[in-house]
Amino acid sequence: MHPWFAKTIILLASVVMVVIRAPHGQRSRTVKVAKSHKGPLETALLTLAWLGFFIPLIWIATPLFAFAEYRLRPLPFVLGTLLLAVGLWFFYRSHADLGTNWSITLEVRENHQLVTQGIYRRVRHPMYLALLLYSVGQAVVLPNWFAGPSYLVSFGLLFAFRVHREERMMMGEFGAEYEAYAARTKRLIPGVW
Ligand code: SAH
Repeated sequence: MHPWFAKTIILLASVVMVVIRAPHGQRSRTVKVAKSHKGPLETALLTLAWLGFFIPLIWIATPLFAFAEYRLRPLPFVLGTLLLAVGLWFFYRSHADLGTNWSITLEVRENHQLVTQGIYRRVRHPMYLALLLYSVGQAVVLPNWFAGPSYLVSFGLLFAFRVHREERMMMGEFGAEYEAYAARTKRLIPGVW
C-alpha cells in the first residue's frame, strides 16, 4: 500500500485529537488551579510527549525519516486504524466525563470534583488508556521504525512516571473517597490491572 494511506489516517487522527481536546482545554483554563504538583520531571516528560506527538507529523510532511521506512501492509493498516478510532472514542468520553477537572499535568483545580461516573466508573485512567491505544494504533499504522513508535515511547514514559504520583496526589486531596474509588476500580483494564 502507498504510504499516503497511513499519512492520511495519521493526519486525520491528529486533527480529531486536537479538535476533541481544544474546547476542554479552553474551558478548564477558566477554572483556577488550586495546587500544582508540576515539577521538573513533569516538564521533561510533557516536553518529550509533545515531541513524540509531533514526529509523525514531521514524517508526513518531510522525507527526514526516510532511512527508517518500510512497506505498509493492509492488515496492520486496518488494525492500527481501528485502535486509533477506539482510542479517540475513549479520549472523547473521558474528556466529556472529566469536564473542567481536566489538566494536562498534575494539578488540583478550585472546587475540584472527584469523577467516578461515566467511563470513570470502569477504570481510573481512561484518558491514559485512550492515549495508549492511540499510540499503539499509530505505531502499527505508520510504516516507519522511528516515527511509528515515537508517541508510544514518549507517552509510555509519561504514563509510567506519572500514574503513581497522580494517584498519590488524588489520595492526598480526596482521602477516603479516592481510596474507596481505587478499591472498586482498576487502573486501565477492568478486572485486570
Ligand atoms: N488519569 C486520568 C486523568 C488524566 S488528566 C485519566 O487517565 O483519565 C490528569 C488530571 O486529571 C490530574 O492532574 C487530576 O487533576 C485529574 N484527575 C484524574 N483523575 C480524576 C478523577 N477521577 N476525578 C477528577 N479529576 C481527576
